Amino acid sequence: MKKIYTLLMAALCLAAVGCKQAAPEKQTDMKYRPLGNTGLEVSEISIGCGGFEKLDSAASLELMTMALDSGMNYIDIYDCTPKTRSNIGYALQGRRDEMIIQGHIGTIYKDGQHCRTRDVEECRQSFEDLLERLQTDHIEVGMIHITDSHEEWEAVEGSPFLEYVFQLKQEGKIKHIGLSSHNAEVALRAVKSGWVEVLMFSLNPAFDRLRGGAIPWEKGAMDNLQAGIDPVRVELYDYCATHKIAVTVMKTFGGGGRLLDAKTSQLGVAYTPEQCIAYCLAKPCISTCILGIDNLDELKRDLHWMHATEAEKDYTNVAKREKPTLGGDCTYCNHCSPCSVGIPIARVNELLDKAETDGLTPELQEQYNALPKHGSDCTHCGACLSRCPFAVDIPSRMDAARTMFGR
Ligand code: SF4
Ligand code: SF4
Repeated sequence: MKKIYTLLMAALCLAAVGCKQAAPEKQTDMKYRPLGNTGLEVSEISIGCGGFEKLDSAASLELMTMALDSGMNYIDIYDCTPKTRSNIGYALQGRRDEMIIQGHIGTIYKDGQHCRTRDVEECRQSFEDLLERLQTDHIEVGMIHITDSHEEWEAVEGSPFLEYVFQLKQEGKIKHIGLSSHNAEVALRAVKSGWVEVLMFSLNPAFDRLRGGAIPWEKGAMDNLQAGIDPVRVELYDYCATHKIAVTVMKTFGGGGRLLDAKTSQLGVAYTPEQCIAYCLAKPCISTCILGIDNLDELKRDLHWMHATEAEKDYTNVAKREKPTLGGDCTYCNHCSPCSVGIPIARVNELLDKAETDGLTPELQEQYNALPKHGSDCTHCGACLSRCPFAVDIPSRMDAARTMFGR
């Protein structure tokens, strides 16, 4: 099997020659970085897909237009809901060649919920749906969706699912292969495989303090931001830099923007977007920070990065102000989905966190009431727990939501 992979990789590398794409020539102050060895150049900050699920097509177009006009040229699409995919496809009409797309393989939409799968036929249907809704015949990076445990990695290696991913590359439907993970140990095994060209990894000043990978969370020495980085993470970043494997950053702001607010920050103190971005980009392996952007105001806020002063970017002393707390916080990433009874777990957690932080308002109650299922529907089956990269005690949070919102 190893021999077949070696031959395949040689063929795939040859196929990649000639796919060079330089940074766009635009009137913009955006800076660009190489996407590892792919020949592509990507904007230092880029756009996540989460916001497009919350917007209508007109607002999606407005958001995409501002992102493209500002020089952003990279987008991550992990969300497989038809609305998100269609909104992005609509917003990219006529400008597809200005955007480098990182789309996920191994995520499907079933019975109204996200599901992870390695079933080839399900992946094929979902990938063809992605191309159709994006109105394109290829994407630049085919990202193997969330591989967080050693068992998950071993299930990918040598599998029919991986053969399907290689096949997509041979057919030109994806130009490069990526893999996403929250676990540094697993990510390190993946990048050492030789076929991962782009790693999507969760990185920010808080997560770098985790010990032994992302699972389980452990509280480490946190007093000095320059010390105490998980050594496995250090090895991962060094390996990627040395071997020119691109790293695209997810959860730049701590997941759900937690680091931007002192009340929710895992480090007990608010960071600015510029400090979070500067922290990530200080590592040579990083190609781009993917930002979760929900609306034009957030996009304008984050675009300030292009003109930020060195003083605004200075993150070195922020974490020293207060003792940090880590672990068990929801980042609203949706990776725990599907819930066996259909609870939109991420949304319940988001509303609960807001109510706990700022108080329960009629608006929050109304939004909670409008959800299809509620905390009170949780059966404590535990099916979601192993899929959460952040060790959130989901059943307890569902109980807390029932107490807070009364259902
Ligand atoms: S434990 Fe509760 S929230 Fe998790 S899958 Fe089961 S019913 Fe859904
Ligand atoms: S419970 Fe975990 S997996 Fe689910 S949305 Fe929150 S952080 Fe993500």
